[in-house]
Amino acid sequence: MANEVNNFQDIISHCKEYGYVFQSSELYDGLSAVYDYGQMGAQLKKNLRDDWWKSMTQIHENIVGIDAAIFMHPTVWKASGHVDNFSDPMIDNKDSNKRYRVDHLIEAFAETIDKIAGDALINEMEQLLAKDDFAGLKTLIENNKIKCAISKTSNWTEVRQFNLMFSTQIGSVAEEADTIYLRPETAQGIFVNFLNVQKTGRMKIPFGIAQTGKAFRNEIVARQFIFRMREFEQMEMQFFVRPGTQMEWYNYWKDTRKKWHESIGIPTEKLRYHDHVKLAHYADAALDIEFEFPFGWKELEGIHSRTDFDLSQHAKYSKKKIQYFDNDLNAEGKPYGNYTPFVVETSVGLDRLFLTIISLAYQEEKWTKEDGTEDSRVVMKIPAKLAPTKLAILPLLKKDGLPEIATELMKECKKHFHCFYEEKDAIGKRYRRMDAIGTPFCVTIDHQTKEDNTVTIRYRDTMTQERIPMSEVRTLVEKACKG
Ligand code: ATP
Repeated sequence: MANEVNNFQDIISHCKEYGYVFQSSELYDGLSAVYDYGQMGAQLKKNLRDDWWKSMTQIHENIVGIDAAIFMHPTVWKASGHVDNFSDPMIDNKDSNKRYRVDHLIEAFAETIDKIAGDALINEMEQLLAKDDFAGLKTLIENNKIKCAISKTSNWTEVRQFNLMFSTQIGSVAEEADTIYLRPETAQGIFVNFLNVQKTGRMKIPFGIAQTGKAFRNEIVARQFIFRMREFEQMEMQFFVRPGTQMEWYNYWKDTRKKWHESIGIPTEKLRYHDHVKLAHYADAALDIEFEFPFGWKELEGIHSRTDFDLSQHAKYSKKKIQYFDNDLNAEGKPYGNYTPFVVETSVGLDRLFLTIISLAYQEEKWTKEDGTEDSRVVMKIPAKLAPTKLAILPLLKKDGLPEIATELMKECKKHFHCFYEEKDAIGKRYRRMDAIGTPFCVTIDHQTKEDNTVTIRYRDTMTQERIPMSEVRTLVEKACKG
């Protein structure tokens, strides 16, 4: 029956039309690569965040959550290496003055040529990036005659590094003001609180600290809707382990995180691992969990074995001892030991996850009805446990006591999950609207309800309907939302 089309532009328009995502400051023609989440989007985002938070801090007894500030002491970013290293190689086109991230420019070109040549080009680029060989990257761009999308010329500058951090001033008196940065990742808030949490929570290694929050990057080529934004939200967890055991935990988290993505409804075949060729300055192993977005395979989450780099750097710059005293080593017959823990990080972008769920859910369906006429709908098949609204309660008519019964059901259910009440318009129209915003269940209260206390429940994904006792509605929805 379903004739499913997955068109990215249609998804973007749909997100706007149904209150999921708006361009930031749209009234003033928008702000590039910054987005607002509407009434539906904010709830979907919260449901995703809550599921992640639960999977980390509730399911894992040895992981706790914190909420660190966005502003941090400027030395944090010196110690972490971001002031010196958090940059991407960029190139400018001299005719259009348009700036490109070198990897994006080459990747976009690779998609326009045949697959074998494209893969070879990406491979060569990754080798050059790994060696920071900027001259080599420029030659690669020139040899492939890669052109600027605007000027259509290959008149390029040299390849240079640009730092991605936003800076601002803290302090009211200009002369005394200090330059501080908007955090480009949430992880550092965890590292600088390592001792606070370990001591006050009496945490024993291995243990993790999780946090969700905004991060900011001055992305030069911000594109593909909420995939690459200048202000976005991360959900990160740093797992502190004994030195030497990091690969064991790296493999554990590689597997655990992929399973979590599957648990929220992402099909296995739409996920894959990509091992990093160029490792970040702090990592001894790193991979991406990639998702097949409507515009191709891209990073959804990063798993990084960060060694003891961050804690050692903060110890060095703060001149404080940041170590863990491992009692258990003695029990194992090894000498007592203080050491700097190693860290395995999991870092997923909440906005990218949102885009993942939306692009899987959005479907355009067409079918032929029994009478031979055509029908169609746009439906968001968001898994019930993530859907912003779980249940729509719809009295068939606005009279004969039906709204009163519906209101009673609403009163009971809204204490347990998010419900929507609607009495306007024909029932078919109301169903279509619920399909479009992704509400998994609709119940209709009609005249039969007055006689036998049953209602019609309609299932979004199959559009099938059945009659059930009104007293069972709440349990049915709750069960489906548990997944
Ligand atoms: P990319 O290579 O796509 O720029 P990254 O490797 O710089 O990403 P990380 O620093 O590993 O990303 O950040 C962890 C996660 O944060 C990413 O997997 C992604 O989901 C998310 N993320 C990073 N940058 C952005 C951004 N500009 N907009 C939205 N999400 C982002």
